[in-house]
Amino acid sequence: MNSLLERIEQVREKIKKSAAKGGNPPEQIKLVVVTKTVCADVVKQAIECDVQDVGENRIQDFLEKQKSINKKVNWHFIGHLQSNKVKFLINNVSLIHSLDRESLANEINKQGKLANYKFNCLVQVNVSGEASKFGISPENVEDFLVKLSGMEYINVQGLMTMAPFEDDTEDTRYVFERLRNLKFKLEGLDIPRIELKYLSMGMSNDYQVALEEGSNMVRIGSEIFGHIGGNNYEKVLV
Ligand SMILES: *Cc1c(COP(=O)(O)O)cnc(C)c1O
Repeated sequence: MNSLLERIEQVREKIKKSAAKGGNPPEQIKLVVVTKTVCADVVKQAIECDVQDVGENRIQDFLEKQKSINKKVNWHFIGHLQSNKVKFLINNVSLIHSLDRESLANEINKQGKLANYKFNCLVQVNVSGEASKFGISPENVEDFLVKLSGMEYINVQGLMTMAPFEDDTEDTRYVFERLRNLKFKLEGLDIPRIELKYLSMGMSNDYQVALEEGSNMVRIGSEIFGHIGGNNYEKVLV
């Protein structure tokens, strides 16, 4: 009972239901399985369950796991990215979710140019305004996108946000609603080269609400792997 496959299937079922409420076709929702708490063997098991997108938040883990997992999946970088680490993602990353400042954009564009590699990125937006969160504040996103529009080696593909953790997930709804509305507004501006096809919002605690508000990319870790990290997890799981 409660095998990895069953847990993933449960999440997929819940995604289907909530996506429909949010008006998105369920098959268009991307599930990014966040593997930051588990070792490469468990990531491989998840990939056997037909997982196509995995997310890591530390460069070291990202690179190590990618190296030891010789399978074709999309690798998402979801954590805070230090500028001096950008070069390690050349040729390696499907999507960076955490483009959150101009200095990072400059470095990504510079490294991309040197390597002739275009980085797919989401702009991280700090909707809740919490000091502890990274991200561009909503009122500055437009200017930031205009700057990114001129950066040839950055392909903007959408927006990402993290809601505050709330016991009552209804309290997160405004965050997702605001980002969705911001996306609509920005799309209307038709900024050259800026594509806003992804709204990456929703984690284990709040993805159903996020989907109801129009998210089409969710990042789920603990609901699938539990809260126990590292190699121990395998013992708990089976
Ligand atoms: C860890 C993490 C997640 C997954 O969080 P869970 O609550 O474990 O589902 C999603 N997004 C980011 C940016 C993370 O760091």
